[in-house]
Amino acid sequence: MKDIRRVTIADLLKDPSAYVGKEVDVKGWVRSRRGNKYVQFVALNDGTTIKNLQIVFDLAKFSEDSLKGISTGSSIHVQGELVESQGKGQTVEVQAGEFEIYGTADPDSYPLQKKGHTLEFLRDIAHLRPRTNTFGAVFRIRHALAYAIHKFFNDKGFYYFHTPLITASDAEGAGAQFQVTTLPLEDLPKTEDGKVDYSADFFGKEACLTVSGQLEGELGATALGCIYTFGPTFRAENSNTPRHLSEFWMIEPEMAFYEIQDNMDLAEEFIKYCVKYALDHCMDDILFLQEHYDKDLVERLKFVVDNDFVRLPYTEGVKILEESGKKFEFPVFWGADLASEHERYLVEEHFKRPVILTDYPKEIKAFYMKLNDDGKTVRAMDVLFPKIGEIIGGSQREENYEKLKNRVEELGLTGMDWYMDTRRFGSVPHSGFGLGFERLVLFVTGMQNIRDVIPFPRYPKNCEF
Ligand code: ATP
Ligand code: MG
Repeated sequence: MKDIRRVTIADLLKDPSAYVGKEVDVKGWVRSRRGNKYVQFVALNDGTTIKNLQIVFDLAKFSEDSLKGISTGSSIHVQGELVESQGKGQTVEVQAGEFEIYGTADPDSYPLQKKGHTLEFLRDIAHLRPRTNTFGAVFRIRHALAYAIHKFFNDKGFYYFHTPLITASDAEGAGAQFQVTTLPLEDLPKTEDGKVDYSADFFGKEACLTVSGQLEGELGATALGCIYTFGPTFRAENSNTPRHLSEFWMIEPEMAFYEIQDNMDLAEEFIKYCVKYALDHCMDDILFLQEHYDKDLVERLKFVVDNDFVRLPYTEGVKILEESGKKFEFPVFWGADLASEHERYLVEEHFKRPVILTDYPKEIKAFYMKLNDDGKTVRAMDVLFPKIGEIIGGSQREENYEKLKNRVEELGLTGMDWYMDTRRFGSVPHSGFGLGFERLVLFVTGMQNIRDVIPFPRYPKNCEF
């Protein structure tokens, strides 16, 4: 092979005219091969774009036999002239001059032979599914959104703050936790009263994987002003739904001196920014997903970017639901925790746009949310989205030491002294929220199941790869 610098297919197709007439060097995986006894066409993909590059092998130049290892899934390195294409479906193609095969993929055993595998089937081969057009598109969009999130906060002067994944605080309350232990499970050390002796455990006490970085995030915000976290979160809830994972990524901004209105403004600006970023940078992938999975995708994304979110107190939301005349599976009444069907009714049928629901009954929300003057509701805000339901949960935090202490005692929470110190020393009004990263990716890709927007999903009874 000649000494030519490799060009990625994304770079090449960004400005093909710069390469036409020149020899190019490309590498990738074969998506398909077809042709006749004079010429063979290979669709090459290198993961940098949803688009394939057509490679033409002239059989006057190459023997059938030498091309034998080139089949769907095999990896090759090709050098040849880039020329304008005569055929339909592409503007340019490479006339193969020289090639080498890196790795073959036996057609009898390579699972991704034909198009149109079901998403369920692909979930079973999650180690190979990134090689499909669908998952390539999803994971490129996922990357772009992650980058947009860091850019959004960095440009606003927020600091990326790393909160622990292993925690001994049992008060997060956001979901069931996975325990972290090095104790021998078949022979647990016991205390005199027959309980597990955690003093013998690795950390000298019971420890778990975090369900949220918020509490530690507040420690950062009350020192650095505005921070955000972006990391994995673990919930051992047995929620076998298309919107829950056992391991997911969460973004949790926490801001000193922000009240609930500022918090809502930030959440709305943030989501719009991310969706717009994807529209501006991932259109090829979005259009592919629209064509195959969700015909209204682009329209829905643009709608979210261009329209104000409704802001509505929980009490009014419940009234709308009660008066809707709709038969819901779960009952609606003041005090009920809203189910996804209720959230989606408000968003999709009643308002037909995203809704920020505020001022929930304190009983159904976490202990740290700021109590309103009515003594019954707290300054919570959930952002509800079409197709998804809850995408963000947040609130203004209770900054009053006495009120927070009462709430902590009411609920019997212990080991919270370090958290209470933020209210004992230089307490300030502050707010924050949590965005489930995969729910955002779900929304932007138009996929139906959260298991299809993370490379290796974790859910009950599944921990493969
Ligand atoms: P839900 O009612 O949907 O279970 P939640 O009230 O438990 O959500 P929060 O504790 O407020 O959610 O977490 C903040 C955000 O994290 C949610 O708005 C959602 O986007 C996301 N999230 C929560 N649980 C999961 C999960 N199991 N898998 C993926 N994302 C999740
Ligand atoms: Mg939950």
